[in-house]
Amino acid sequence: EYTPRHPPLQAQPLREVRDRATRAANPMPFDLERNGDLLVAILADIEAAEDLPPDDLSRILRRHPLPDGTLLSKPKLLRAYAQLCERDQRPIDTQLVRRLRVKPTRTISGVAPVTVLTKPHPCPGECIFCPSVEGMPKSYLPDEPGAMRAVAHGFDPYSQTSSRVEAMSRLGHPVDKIELLILGGSWSCYPEDYQDWFVRRCLDALNHKESETLETAQQLNETASCRNVGLVIETRPDLVTPDEVVRLRRQGVTKVQLGVQSLDDNILALNRRGHTVAHTRQAVRLLRLAGFKIQVHWMPNLLGATPDGDLEDFRRLWDDPAIRPDELKIYPTSLLAGTELHRLYELGEYEPYSEETLVDLLVECKMLIPQYCRLNRLMRDIPAPNIIAGVKRSNLRQVIQQRLAQTGQACRCIRCREIRGRPVDSASLVSQRIDYDTGATKEHFLSYATEEGLLVGFLRLSLPQMSPPVAELEGHALIREVHVYGPALQLGAQQEKVAQHIGVGTRLISDARRIAREEGYERIAVIAAVGTRPYYSGHGFALGELYMAGFTEPTSA
Ligand code: SF4
Repeated sequence: EYTPRHPPLQAQPLREVRDRATRAANPMPFDLERNGDLLVAILADIEAAEDLPPDDLSRILRRHPLPDGTLLSKPKLLRAYAQLCERDQRPIDTQLVRRLRVKPTRTISGVAPVTVLTKPHPCPGECIFCPSVEGMPKSYLPDEPGAMRAVAHGFDPYSQTSSRVEAMSRLGHPVDKIELLILGGSWSCYPEDYQDWFVRRCLDALNHKESETLETAQQLNETASCRNVGLVIETRPDLVTPDEVVRLRRQGVTKVQLGVQSLDDNILALNRRGHTVAHTRQAVRLLRLAGFKIQVHWMPNLLGATPDGDLEDFRRLWDDPAIRPDELKIYPTSLLAGTELHRLYELGEYEPYSEETLVDLLVECKMLIPQYCRLNRLMRDIPAPNIIAGVKRSNLRQVIQQRLAQTGQACRCIRCREIRGRPVDSASLVSQRIDYDTGATKEHFLSYATEEGLLVGFLRLSLPQMSPPVAELEGHALIREVHVYGPALQLGAQQEKVAQHIGVGTRLISDARRIAREEGYERIAVIAAVGTRPYYSGHGFALGELYMAGFTEPTSA
């Protein structure tokens, strides 16, 4: 008889997590009365410093300890500065804030990401690796960072969004362009009225205004100070139907994270995924024909997998024309207490890979990723104490990058080639074009890069080879993504030679129009997030029912 050695997963009592997250979200204010002069001295030293590498800032902070001997941290310093400006009724110096920005990489790709979670809701899946924790959406643990914030806000979309935007702004990040990531299990399983309400309340928070309907909230966001430039949901392949893609588009979704996990029907069945590879092909085809960006989740080390088999499976992502995702998250299977996989492990029927095996596999996988794909993650952010056995490192990506560097190899995925805020000389940009077939569409990945190969911006153009699931798109070429890099500058902010401001987007759109025209298309549509509608209007696209569209001849728009 089987007796589990570990109790079912209850990582931390929800109340504790909620209290901890609430404390983190509402830090003690800085004592300006007592320490105002000290703060002014610190700020004067920072302003006097020409450059501000992290060591110099630490030196300045060490020079001005608080009366109790402790030092101010960057987040506390930023908060104290905001309080000082408010007290003295003077504007915030954005240059100074930019120099102090915490985790600048968070907005380095040009957009501020805001993750919110939906309320706990049953999922039709029975995946053997998936944890269930009372009070949490299926598959989420309460002590994962994003989940912790959601618990603290009772899964309320408005307060999750507004508090996250406020926190990012406090940490010095511009928040005028927001990518909303709605996570929390399979979106398609939630009732439609809950989905509509959830998106509307997220937009209300960005608009700082309540709306009666989702459509009104979307319209208001077109001119809001925090524009929604991307809306992402996650779902299962078997839940993507023609009706579902129309619903997603009506809700303003632009990118879908798809739990593919494996392209081997035996592995899918062993792990009780409840869908087949045929479902995945069908979902990717529908989403691509409807213009969505597609992010695939793939899991090595599932029950029944071997390192060689996983590598073969990974090759199918690219060799099978029907898959070929735009973005990828690799989530090595984590062995979590209370799951069916945990039971099998205790019976000796499952063994996690060693770190060496996993690193070897992922190094090989990374080298197979084509230039049109972005590898967003190599490990899920699960706090180590929840993992029973296997690799617990959260810095697996760095380990793999080091290994690649040691062997003189370089990954060519989008993320590894991004310009990341470095200066750009627009005159010397090189135009590149990668064409590939997906069966349903001919894809053109157009990009501009520096002479050293650093990616400044790219566009995904799809030329459909079959009827689209949305009538409005019939006969249209389709722009699925335009992405121009550069730190997320506030609207109107000046920063010379940064990619977002040198017309790369305009050049890419005009290239896409020309290619579509050459291929015989008179009309071209774009899947526009609600906050990007004015941008596309300026490029000759007009709002239809679910998409914006124009002529491929730019003058006749
Ligand atoms: S579909 Fe996703 S959320 Fe549902 S059981 Fe499977 S892994 Fe968990």
